[in-house]
Amino acid sequence: MIMGMTIKGDDPLASLEKVNSLNISTCQMYVPPEEWWSKGRLELIKKTMQEKGVRITALLCHFEGESYEDIGAIKRTVGLLNQATREKRVRKILSSSEVARNLGVKVLQAHIGFIPEDRSDLDYKGLVKAVQRIADYCKKNGQSFALETGQEKARTLAMFIEDVNRSTLGVNFDPANMLLYDAEDPIGALDILGKYIIGVHCKDGKRPAKRGELGKEYPLGEGDVDIRRFIDKLKEIGYTGPLTIEREIAGERQIKDILKAKKLLEKLR
Ligand code: MG
Repeated sequence: MIMGMTIKGDDPLASLEKVNSLNISTCQMYVPPEEWWSKGRLELIKKTMQEKGVRITALLCHFEGESYEDIGAIKRTVGLLNQATREKRVRKILSSSEVARNLGVKVLQAHIGFIPEDRSDLDYKGLVKAVQRIADYCKKNGQSFALETGQEKARTLAMFIEDVNRSTLGVNFDPANMLLYDAEDPIGALDILGKYIIGVHCKDGKRPAKRGELGKEYPLGEGDVDIRRFIDKLKEIGYTGPLTIEREIAGERQIKDILKAKKLLEKLR
């Protein structure tokens, strides 16, 4: 399995340079801001990808006004759950699909927010419709749409995917999120979600000390995911895609942790 990392999209050229400087060959990049969406600038990104030998494996959608401060804020502000911002955000995802198409990127990815456990919930039905629309649009552009795991139970996510019922819909499996959001054992969740895997995040973390709070992210290998078991399980289910390292801090420490994670994964893959 090849290596990857998640990276910001504010300055795509600098980001590609950074990935290359860490000797990593793929990345999942946050959707660049609109000033990068012109034909000329997208061509420049493509040219830099070639020059640096770095492939963007997925574009990560994000939205204005999102807060990961605590569980309440996530429920209110993240993804497509909130009806007040849903339509505007779906449209942004569709535009991002065009950006991805112009860059030759085959996967669009997002946190769509906490999926309600009750199928008769209005928000559940609204989410199904919204994701059907996105998946259909992505299909037209030759892309898959990957949902980031972890904010809900694996069974809820699997039920949701079955209800959306689109072959281009799958998951980006993030084992640490399952601990951060105090959901279930990530390795066990792979038994349920394995057949929908499009990509993975190699991230580590620990559960919250108190119920209802958010857990804490740790450098890879230092949390409770059990990365060795995680990689073994990925092999067992036949995953051959990139191992995308995600470390959600900034600065020198982030670089250090990513390089350490890379070393660890090179031993385990
Ligand atoms: Mg993640």
